[in-house]
Amino acid sequence: MTESLNLSSGSVVIVGASLAGLNAAEALRRAGFEGQITLLGEEPHLPYDRPPLSKQVLAGDWEPERTALSDAEELAADSIDIRLGEKAAALDLVSRRLTLENGETLDFDGLVIATGARCRTLTGTENLAGVHVLRSLDDCLALRADFEASPQRVVVVGAGFIGAEVAATARGRGLQVTMVEALANPLSRVLGDEMGSVCAEMHRDHGVDLRTGVGVDAVVGTDRVQSVVLSDGSSVDADVVVVGIGVIPNTEWLHGSGLTLDDGVVCDATCSAAPGVVAAGDVARWPNELFGEMMRVEHWDNAAAQGTHAARRLLDESVEPFAPVPWFWSDQYDRKIQLAGRVRPDDEIQVVTGSLQERRFAAIYGRAGRITGVLGFNRPRHVMRYRALIAQQASFEEALAAEF
Ligand code: FAD
Ligand code: NAP
Repeated sequence: MTESLNLSSGSVVIVGASLAGLNAAEALRRAGFEGQITLLGEEPHLPYDRPPLSKQVLAGDWEPERTALSDAEELAADSIDIRLGEKAAALDLVSRRLTLENGETLDFDGLVIATGARCRTLTGTENLAGVHVLRSLDDCLALRADFEASPQRVVVVGAGFIGAEVAATARGRGLQVTMVEALANPLSRVLGDEMGSVCAEMHRDHGVDLRTGVGVDAVVGTDRVQSVVLSDGSSVDADVVVVGIGVIPNTEWLHGSGLTLDDGVVCDATCSAAPGVVAAGDVARWPNELFGEMMRVEHWDNAAAQGTHAARRLLDESVEPFAPVPWFWSDQYDRKIQLAGRVRPDDEIQVVTGSLQERRFAAIYGRAGRITGVLGFNRPRHVMRYRALIAQQASFEEALAAEF
């Protein structure tokens, strides 16, 4: 096996028919690849976008069709053979063969691994009615149906991205929300305590009963959830519980394949996991040379860009390293929160425009004399400008002196 595929022949199988996988398929065609492309997806749906699932679709403002990332005609026009409801179960790198859960096998010359991640659950609650996780369209519609069945009390476990966005959407629907977070402040492990407390105040000002510094000891109910018992001994009545306590990369099907698995599929700086095998999106861990560290990023922009890059890598082994400045947005209430860069909670933080009180500001993060990130609340222009400085590896002083 050579390291690169011939542009005019061969077959590529892409496992995971979501954002990273679809972008990889489209990028292969854009680059002139004329061979066979098979896009394999475990879910029954054509590729769709996940961000609206915690926002517009859950709010009832959008119907699911609006989340479509492609349709059957577009895929057919690009000669992308999409196979839905089919799960890859094993990979044999020597014979370059995938085995599906239904026993069928698929041979390939090039392979893109884009299997994303799935939600962690609270052990013991998996079959209790009224307890939800939120990852897929089906999860979203099940939760929306429960929201519409006139529940009074929603308990959100975890004030990470899912928790915060679901809490905001549920409040927008007029539901009563209690959000439970083990940390002292939401997102403080990412943003630090000062910015985490800005998020905490935002939720409280919108009527969320935010309980921080407590975990969940038990979810109580026989057929349907009734209450949640917290680690401080208190109990919160619940009609619906949403669990947002992080994700696990989907790599089980790769066990024994010889690929290096360590909280994701470990790749080199160009997204290559083995000759003719690349990985992208939430499932991929790679050394980002801009930051000099291994990362696995669980956000939209990375999945889209890395899917494209991984496809290019399959066709050209001399492709440049994948070294972006990661960034994401999160819509909560009337705020667009954006973070670009790679920040740590103990980084130096300086507000460069606006004020924390108004919750309309940009703040930059720095470490070892270098700008590491920028956080914006309703400041998209500033975030993108400071993001460019992060890409240039500007010093913290230069960034502080910049005028935008
Ligand atoms: P995924 O989207 O997880 O797709 C992986 C696909 O692979 C899935 O369809 C899965 O079923 C399939 N699969 C798994 N195993 C197999 C197998 N063995 N065989 C075949 N198929 C398989 N990011 C932001 O930046 N901003 C946001 O506002 C934002 N909002 C979000 C809201 C929600 C509710 C969620 C869940 C995520 C949100 N994200 C957001 C994150 C973003 O959507 C993800 O980073 C992105 O979807 C990752 O894309 P992916 O293609 O790598 O993986
Ligand atoms: P997350 O952002 O990793 O947050 C999980 C939160 O739950 C963390 O605050 C975590 O705290 C806490 N937690 C972990 N275990 C817990 C437990 N047993 N009890 C109570 N709290 C616990 O994950 P998520 O919010 O579940 O989101 C899932 C995925 O969707 C992520 O990949 C996320 O990036 C993605 N997503 C992204 C967006 C966006 O970018 N806008 C929006 C929605 C979803 P610790 O830090 O202490 O572990």
